[in-house]
Amino acid sequence: MRTANLDGRLVILHDGGAIDVEEASDGAFSHDPQAVFEQWPQFRAWAAEAPAPGTPLTAFDESRLLAPVPRPRQVFAIGLNYRDHIAEAGLDVPSQPSVFTKYPTSLAGPLDEITLPSAYVDWEAELVVAIGTRAHHVSKEDAWQYVAGLTAGQDLSERRIQLQGPAPQFSLGKSFPGFSPIGPALVTPDEFADPDDLELGCSIDGEAVQRSRTSHMVFPIAEQIAWISSVCPLLPGDLIFTGTPAGIGGARNPRRFLSPGEELRSWVEGVGVLRNPLVAAPTHPVGP
Ligand code: ZN
Repeated sequence: MRTANLDGRLVILHDGGAIDVEEASDGAFSHDPQAVFEQWPQFRAWAAEAPAPGTPLTAFDESRLLAPVPRPRQVFAIGLNYRDHIAEAGLDVPSQPSVFTKYPTSLAGPLDEITLPSAYVDWEAELVVAIGTRAHHVSKEDAWQYVAGLTAGQDLSERRIQLQGPAPQFSLGKSFPGFSPIGPALVTPDEFADPDDLELGCSIDGEAVQRSRTSHMVFPIAEQIAWISSVCPLLPGDLIFTGTPAGIGGARNPRRFLSPGEELRSWVEGVGVLRNPLVAAPTHPVGP
């Protein structure tokens, strides 16, 4: 099943059209794309029978798609999770996942314009996991049962703020407004032949800058869920950004960052493509 956020309403994408969930379920499920995660198992059971024969499919304009998970309570992210990216960063492979947060105010839609707060904004194409049921102290063997679906995302990063010492500021440097676009759809794991082996990447104005497969993760999704849930309960509708492969701008020689006027395209196989135009900030808001 593919779900999406169409103008703030939860829809199921089917045969090129959209089914409004609140209407099709006679109000059993809210129009709010975030509220559905509180009833995810019931929603899956209902949707397995949907659409009922004769349910009207609404044609829709892609430009109306918003973040499929708009208001997660927690957004986790994993750093240093692909060996080629760890190598380009000049670091050692960690013995457990490196976890930080992207504050939820940084979320954006798959086609939203993103404001660049400085000349040091870098790209990180990532697979993003949405949690479907509360997960606390779960084993890696059971972890996939707690996943609602997968989507595509960008972990945009302002490298000066991120790397300012003495302790790096990952969470702040990766949380400017618009720095976490996700979408265009949320896809349930059963839609993939192997949800642990998906091609992903991104391009700038058509020039490919990242391309890899999620099977190259050091800590696969199940291990990330087991590790995070050994500390924090994962709540329905939470997100995990699962790390980025090699090809970021800050590791290039010379370094390269995003510029106003460019378009950043990011994609995950079987999920779809984000197309985010980049614009300049009217002022320079970094720091006091
Ligand atoms: Zn990242």
